[in-house]
Amino acid sequence: MMFKAFLIKYGEIGLKGKNRYLFEDALMRQIRFALNGTGEFEVSKEQGRIFVDFTSDYDYDEVLERLGRVFGIVAICPVVHCDDNRWENLTKVVGDYMDAVYPDKAFTFKVESRRADKNYPKKSMEISADMGEYLLDRFPQAKVDVHNPQILLNIEIRQKTYIYSLSIPGPGGMPVGTNGKAMLLLSGGIDSPVAGYMIAKRGVRIDATYFHAPPYTSERAKEKVIDLAKIVARYAGPIKLNIVNFTDIQMAIYEKCPHDELTIIMRRYMMKIAEYIAKKDGCLGLVTGESIGQVASQTMQSLAATNAVCTMPVYRPVIGFDKNDIVEVSQKIGAFETSILPYEDCCTIFVAKHPVTKPNIRAIERSEFHLADVIDELVETAITTREVLICE
Ligand code: ATP
Ligand code: MG
Repeated sequence: MMFKAFLIKYGEIGLKGKNRYLFEDALMRQIRFALNGTGEFEVSKEQGRIFVDFTSDYDYDEVLERLGRVFGIVAICPVVHCDDNRWENLTKVVGDYMDAVYPDKAFTFKVESRRADKNYPKKSMEISADMGEYLLDRFPQAKVDVHNPQILLNIEIRQKTYIYSLSIPGPGGMPVGTNGKAMLLLSGGIDSPVAGYMIAKRGVRIDATYFHAPPYTSERAKEKVIDLAKIVARYAGPIKLNIVNFTDIQMAIYEKCPHDELTIIMRRYMMKIAEYIAKKDGCLGLVTGESIGQVASQTMQSLAATNAVCTMPVYRPVIGFDKNDIVEVSQKIGAFETSILPYEDCCTIFVAKHPVTKPNIRAIERSEFHLADVIDELVETAITTREVLICE
């Protein structure tokens, strides 16, 4: 195997003092977690850079794929080691590297060197110039271009020498765990997994709550949501999923409230229950997959009515996205195929033919008053009987 290590580049803008350490430590932790099981490796930090050094065999594609899901990584550079730094050996290793990585030798290049080992007999500038000369000799079709090279070849002399020129884009964002925790209302649809992904990308850990309504919603619908949580967890890390039985609350609303307000009232109780669990578990906000105007329950008036029951901030990362934009992200993160499986959702089963699109909050509150006798106990039961799973 050619590449023995990876240099991890991350965005440093705005990272100062203590924040920088938190960011780097969280990123290292997430990298270790993501690579768990791929082989023997060490993650280290040096002069504002993170290295992953493999000491065993590993699957290159698998490692790249997994690193490609770690938020905070801007680029991944596969590195070749050279243990014997003597010049004749180093030139040979670098030449062999270029030979193997670039089959077409009509490239332009520039060599950039760093010398962490100050005892090395050549200075950085000399290393670059002499290596450039060696490569021109060895590959007569190649040309040096110091301003706009096709290949930027990096040589870093430390105890070992690190050689790299490839840079594979990472997902960007911030390492999960640097920005607290939020509660995602996760349904089986397309939007909420995307919302969870987007919030996790900003460094936020995710818990999730799913409301199901057996026997109206099936075991398979529940499995689908668990699968979606696992897909989001590939990026966000392990997700604690609360599965709340919503049937009795839904039935009570159905029996006692006007049918055109069902969806809004249901959504309000979902938010209340999710917020209760969120507070108990140390979350700092709620996350939904709502997008303005997508359905009757997502008009500005409906969102206001839903929002009114929450005291925590509600984050809606896809609020301004068209469905197409959301689908694009869903496909990119590998959730789409699962999201479109045709299992029933608890919201759609009791849905009214003509739901209100401009609910009046006072009117909704008056309707909810019909639930006064039963609702507290139903909510309490729903919360205490919830099932909790760790999805990873
Ligand atoms: P999604 O594709 O995420 O299911 P949607 O377009 O179907 O969204 P709604 O059903 O109105 O929209 O739901 C809006 C948001 O409310 C969802 O994105 C999700 O965050 C939350 N939500 C809806 N149903 C449930 C549920 N059964 N369990 C948990 N959260 C839900
Ligand atoms: Mg839905």
